[in-house]
Amino acid sequence: TDTGVSQELLEAGRRAYELDREHVFHSWQAQGPFKPMTIVKTEGSYVWDGEGTRMIDLSSQLVNTNIGHQHPRVVAAIQEQAAQICTIAPQHVNTARSEAARLIAERTPGDLNHIFFTNGGADAVEHAVRMARLHTGRHKVLSAYRSYHGGTQLAVNITGDPRRFDSDYSSEGVVHFMPAYTYRSYFGSETPEQETERALRHLEDMMVLEGPKNIAAIILETVPGTAGIYAPPPGYLAGVRALADRYGIIYIADEVMAGFGRTGQWFAVENYDVTPDLLTFAKGVNSGYVPLGGVAISDAIFETFRDRAYQGGLTYSGHPLAAAAAVATIGAMTDEHMVENAERLGREIIGPRLQEFKAKHPSVGDVRGLGCFWAIELVKNRETREPMAAYGGSSPEMNQVVAAIKAAGVLPFNNFNRIHVVPALNIPDELLIQALDVVDRALTIADGFVTG
Ligand code: PMP
Repeated sequence: TDTGVSQELLEAGRRAYELDREHVFHSWQAQGPFKPMTIVKTEGSYVWDGEGTRMIDLSSQLVNTNIGHQHPRVVAAIQEQAAQICTIAPQHVNTARSEAARLIAERTPGDLNHIFFTNGGADAVEHAVRMARLHTGRHKVLSAYRSYHGGTQLAVNITGDPRRFDSDYSSEGVVHFMPAYTYRSYFGSETPEQETERALRHLEDMMVLEGPKNIAAIILETVPGTAGIYAPPPGYLAGVRALADRYGIIYIADEVMAGFGRTGQWFAVENYDVTPDLLTFAKGVNSGYVPLGGVAISDAIFETFRDRAYQGGLTYSGHPLAAAAAVATIGAMTDEHMVENAERLGREIIGPRLQEFKAKHPSVGDVRGLGCFWAIELVKNRETREPMAAYGGSSPEMNQVVAAIKAAGVLPFNNFNRIHVVPALNIPDELLIQALDVVDRALTIADGFVTG
């Protein structure tokens, strides 16, 4: 097959870049200095940049394209749906939406049997919180520092990372607590077991001091993603579940990034044997081919809305094109055993290789993850764990490491002092190994910045 890029496509890409700089307002950026990368073509685990250079996509486009790019089954499903019905209002029944809801409900754990569709992750978080508030009649929401829950007003307030600082108003009822994070423990823990015990004691203190009868929900990314892919220590989420039950608080698992196979299970909570009351999803549900998100709702919360209207909705809720893409994506993931493959890639290839990086590169402070969801945390000094870029910021050193990875033909996802290894769940083994070889070489550059 032709993997090259035509002159016409490159010319169109150059024109697109000019128009972008003139008219497109980009998220999370100072508009002036921003130099976005043009992508003129995508296929499988490859993307082609504005010069026509082919790169291995180790980012999955914000941990989104779990099935890779341009999967033929999904492209065909979108085309077929478009030829049939492009759009209907949310109150009407549509085959694609009904089928998507069934496929999702069959895969979510426990009694999360009812699906409310949204356009993406932030609005899924906002609706989940609203449902929890209406169900409990309480208003407060507990969320973790070092978390990311979305860019709309309430979701960004709930977010526990510095991106909320510029928009930190009207956050009525939002209370942040310290998460369990063994590598940078806030509790001085030296083992994961200690971290679990201390983080749970802190969380219970927070609940008691905030007044449980006012707390509607606790929201947690099952494996915090953007904040560093730090999987919870053993027993932590089971402890959260128990505390939520003790105080009548709704447990919302935010699986916008960790869901749909990313961790080697359909949903990340399955790794920890817990079932939340509400579970938010987006991204991997249809690999982002058409915008879609949603909330999976337990039978008990569903009962609250059996006779009482849920006063919330979206014109595009369960949009047929997005739902058809979800049906085809979940079908392809199932038939091609992508979830099992993600588990294998983590266990056989990514995990061992990252451990090797840690053993040989003094700049690697910590490596962690599961499935196709891993982070490498870079430090200037292993003793002090001084990060190679401050939390919430960048640094010339990190920029140089990331530039070296890109120059060698790999598109990484990096945040602050971390390089995330988040390929498609179906990336061919040899491509993944090739990409990890590139990261390995770039870490040698990082080693040069180590001071301690
Ligand atoms: N929750 C989590 C855990 C996320 O990772 C994200 C997006 N990265 C969101 C919510 C927000 O999703 P969206 O950007 O689709 O609104």
